[in-house]
Amino acid sequence: MKVLISVDMEGIAGVSGRDEVARGHSEYERFRRLMTDEANQAIVGAARAGADEIWVNDSHGGMRNLLYEQLDERAELISGFNKPLCMMQGAEGADAVVCIGYHARAGTAQAVLDHTISGAQVHNWWMNGVLVGETQINAALAGSFGAPLVLVSGDDTLAQQVQATLPATRTVVVKHALDTLTARSRPRSVVHHDIREGVEAAVRERAAVPPVRLEGPVTFQVEMVRSTHAEVACWFPAVKRVDARTIAVTGDDVVTAWRMAMGALLLGSTADR
Ligand SMILES: [Zn+2]
Repeated sequence: MKVLISVDMEGIAGVSGRDEVARGHSEYERFRRLMTDEANQAIVGAARAGADEIWVNDSHGGMRNLLYEQLDERAELISGFNKPLCMMQGAEGADAVVCIGYHARAGTAQAVLDHTISGAQVHNWWMNGVLVGETQINAALAGSFGAPLVLVSGDDTLAQQVQATLPATRTVVVKHALDTLTARSRPRSVVHHDIREGVEAAVRERAAVPPVRLEGPVTFQVEMVRSTHAEVACWFPAVKRVDARTIAVTGDDVVTAWRMAMGALLLGSTADR
């Protein structure tokens, strides 16, 4: 049985500030260890549930945060940014997907470090007309390979969004959000226990979670933070301009639409040079 564990950083217990998740800041080195610790608890849970192939995908920022030398040796580590499936790299052939350290979508009140894919670039993101965050996008990417998203950990506001949109997916609340930059984190031992036990139960009972399968063409509409990003993204004819800041791409399936959207974002980001 194969389990993919995707690990972001904003939703790790203890994290409340941007410097804690940004390479180059002195606090960052502490928090990448805490991120690795939570990943390890998820690995233990997946292994106890019977997984004999566990891949951990580093899914934050430049995607080179997790400490390989401290990672539980039952897992293999995917690190590096250039991955077509991004946070869901490795979902092909997975029997279950787990998301650790996730966060609420851009524009959510009382949510620690809320954003969608890129805080610098994305104001709002719609999938087939529905406002979504990374969790919902990634659930659809995983679902296209038949893999269910069985558990998500992060703050209490993220948990509410997951419960409203993916009701069969389990949630682990590691902290309570008081503001974008303020959190009340639960004790480490409690967080680790809940992740370990939650992942074990969620992987064991993965058959109860239907994979998210989007039929037919999939449209991603992205409202950028700045109009110049939309302007340059539209140099690709497949990228449509909806309004000054908003673009849309449509693919035959969610993976194709995702790759087009990411390509448009990457191209748009070059407008700032
Ligand atoms: Zn992140």
